Amino acid sequence: MHEFSVMQSMVEMILSMAEAKGAVKVLSVSLRVGELTFLNPEQLRFAFEVLTEGTIAQGASLLIESVKPAVRCRRCGYEGEVDYRGEEVHLPLVVPLSVKCPKCGGDVELIAGRECTLTSIKVKLDE
Ligand SMILES: [Zn+2]
Repeated sequence: MHEFSVMQSMVEMILSMAEAKGAVKVLSVSLRVGELTFLNPEQLRFAFEVLTEGTIAQGASLLIESVKPAVRCRRCGYEGEVDYRGEEVHLPLVVPLSVKCPKCGGDVELIAGRECTLTSIKVKLDE
């Protein structure tokens, strides 16, 4: 289960950040997850609950912001969201071949949509 291994490294990062701050509890965690990661938010939540059990992050609320794929065109400079005909792509992820510039049909590079990043974490410092 892909979500589980992604969340495992996330939770490790969260716990070590919280520990470094001397936190007694993690209150909330925010993530940005690109649609092209094909990570299922429900599965991420489930993995988060399981992996934080018995840690100071147990019961923390998890906010998941989903990020639409965006591209930059190498030919005309268009930047923005793009439609993609999605089939699940397995790791390592590549730009699906059906993605072209919506303006000129040129080749594009992906500038958003594959991220899975921790954007903020709120902790409680003392009892
Ligand atoms: Zn273009």
